[in-house]
Amino acid sequence: MERRAISIQGTVQGVGFRPFVYALANSLRLGGFVRNHTGGVEIQVEGEASSLEQFMQRLLRDPPPLARIVEWSSSDRPVRGERLFRIEESESTGGPIVITPDAATCDACLAELFDPQNRRYRYPFLNCTRCGPRLTIVTGAPYDRQRTTMAKFIMCADCRREYEDPADRRFHAQPSACPACGPTLSLHDASGALIETDDPLGHFEQALRDGKIGAMKGLGGYHLVADARRPDVVAELRQRKHRDEKPLAIMVRDLEAVEQLCHIDPASRALLTCNRRPIVLLRKRAGAALAEELAPRNPMLGIMLPYTPLHHLLLHDIGIPLVMTSGNRTDEPIAYEDADAIERLSGIADLFLSHNRPIHVRCDDSVTRLVEGEELPIRRSRGCAPQPIALPFTCDVPILAVGGQMKGTFAMGTGSRAILSQHMGDLDHFEAFRAFERDIALYGRLFAFEPICIAHDLHPDYASTRYAQTIAREKEQGAIRCIPVQHHHAHMASCMAEHGLTEPVIAVTFDGTGYGTDGAIWGGEILVGDYRAFRRFAHLRYVAMPGGEKAVREPWRMALSHLADAGVRCASLEKRLPAKSLAVVRQMIARKLNSPPTSSAGRLFDAVASLANVRDVVSYEGQAAVELEALAMAVDHVPPYPVEWMEGEPLVIDTRPLIRAIAADVDANIRSHEIAKKFHACLVEIICRSCNRAREMTGGNQVVVTGGVFMNALLSSAAARRLAAEGFFAYRHRLVPCNDGGISLGQLAIAASQVSQRRRQ
Ligand code: ZN
Ligand code: ZN
Ligand code: FE
Repeated sequence: MERRAISIQGTVQGVGFRPFVYALANSLRLGGFVRNHTGGVEIQVEGEASSLEQFMQRLLRDPPPLARIVEWSSSDRPVRGERLFRIEESESTGGPIVITPDAATCDACLAELFDPQNRRYRYPFLNCTRCGPRLTIVTGAPYDRQRTTMAKFIMCADCRREYEDPADRRFHAQPSACPACGPTLSLHDASGALIETDDPLGHFEQALRDGKIGAMKGLGGYHLVADARRPDVVAELRQRKHRDEKPLAIMVRDLEAVEQLCHIDPASRALLTCNRRPIVLLRKRAGAALAEELAPRNPMLGIMLPYTPLHHLLLHDIGIPLVMTSGNRTDEPIAYEDADAIERLSGIADLFLSHNRPIHVRCDDSVTRLVEGEELPIRRSRGCAPQPIALPFTCDVPILAVGGQMKGTFAMGTGSRAILSQHMGDLDHFEAFRAFERDIALYGRLFAFEPICIAHDLHPDYASTRYAQTIAREKEQGAIRCIPVQHHHAHMASCMAEHGLTEPVIAVTFDGTGYGTDGAIWGGEILVGDYRAFRRFAHLRYVAMPGGEKAVREPWRMALSHLADAGVRCASLEKRLPAKSLAVVRQMIARKLNSPPTSSAGRLFDAVASLANVRDVVSYEGQAAVELEALAMAVDHVPPYPVEWMEGEPLVIDTRPLIRAIAADVDANIRSHEIAKKFHACLVEIICRSCNRAREMTGGNQVVVTGGVFMNALLSSAAARRLAAEGFFAYRHRLVPCNDGGISLGQLAIAASQVSQRRRQ
């Protein structure tokens, strides 16, 4: 006989860890106890040595799905002769209980959902410690039912018994509920008036079958739902939502249904079914029975599997693929409060399927794609936040990083971990900004976090920048320090931090827009440096951005600007566009009127897309790049367009030869597919040669590849492959988005290193 004391740190509270330990110990006939303690769980077990061995193995090998063991230790203790195993009530644990992300319905709950003998048969709100809502329902700390939106529901005797039974899967499952005591569905007409019915879901399903557009309350907000096969219905939805061309995500009932519509492999299968249940971008099958209007001119489709019991019931009953897109008008944040949803979505939705469990924290669906079998996150939100990210350094003081503007997120750093928020949307929107402020305060309470230092973007007009400065001003003098961080430095640090890199790197940062230290709009940058400092080693040649933000929506302006810079004309472009517009924009460029200089790679994509007659105007940012990528994917091998380097500090990547070659190709009627491919090949050449030059100077061999442009899988994989072939260690994003959704993490890393440096001095 032996006795062992085991201490486990990580996400092990509120995730069914103690019942798991209890069941495991009992199955091996071990005595002892388990209890929560600060930041983890403490276990003592005694029994035969071989059983103890098995206990340890299984403890570490198959913990409950939502548990994350970060650290553990074990030591021998004197045998006490204990035969029974018990769960000890913990004295107040002191530290905060970690809030886990919302998790998709687990297999055990799913089995109950479709078991006619079970008391929760077809109950849309069943959950347990292994699954269900978490972040979206929490209203305060510590995490217990009173501080969730379930507080108003009083548990029935049966639910209470499960909740108190250490052997039950619902032991201390805070949102647990059943038909007798929990939330219920309701159906509302287009004006929000309640429709009396015993079967709200059945009515909703029939309406969808009839081609109606529904709004449905999900986990982190409302979705708009419709038959994804019918072109007329999808077109109508687009029109009502004012969403011209941006792809719409769909939900299907199971993997088999995905397989009928898209090409999938083991890696995408794993992503689709993991308990985060993100939207995964997959290649559409030719002839898939779906409306073309879902993702016009786009070979990819955003697809996800059901992740709440309600979704499972709906998809099971209806059996057809459904559009499942954020409940909003284009560019607005997703609606999540009932009254607000009805107000904003009436006029879009024909009817509403709602329920009386409030959503407290808005959370959009996460979006991700695969590049050569590895994940490339596009939006890290539901199911991911607020899962902590381990940092390769420690924050000497609590640091808040407020991120960028368009794809807002914030990050909180204490010790050696960062909590990254869900996607907050475009902070220009009042609603989005209000949620941003409120969620920073909520996360602060949940994680007992009060910042001493706030990192923000260098851009003076970002709402997040103003927020940081206001907070610092409101606090007593000097209590909070603001640290401004250059946008692309933040991208670089974000990729470094998630890979645990601490040595200096070469950073390829290609994105749309970022405020440069010289006041210009950067975005095609090769940086060298580390968290503390960076040097701008090379950048794309500056060209004018005629009309500023207007040039983002109208790529033809960038085409004209690049043509002017290269001193050539492109007859087919000029034929297409009104002579007057051409003249006005040419004047703007020549006279430098409202035409800030930019080195943006995103805008170069726009220019090329317009030149190649793919897109003169876009309806969402990045559309031109998405379509160029799609065209290029259809072409095999072509030589890259030429490009030259202008010596100096920084080195300038001269895009004029590239533009001249494209203009010549266009006027020679070369297919846009081929132009797109040659352009991609040229970018790979630019990346590779710039990195080689940087290596000659610094001797460094590690490259991080970051910035929104690298959501482009073709470019991402080609660049990484080429860099590897040249002997570089190339790092891509795998945990946080390469776009501006990831920059809060980078700001945090940079601020942390500045703080610790200052402390050392
Ligand atoms: Zn469950
Ligand atoms: Zn109940
Ligand atoms: Fe950016």
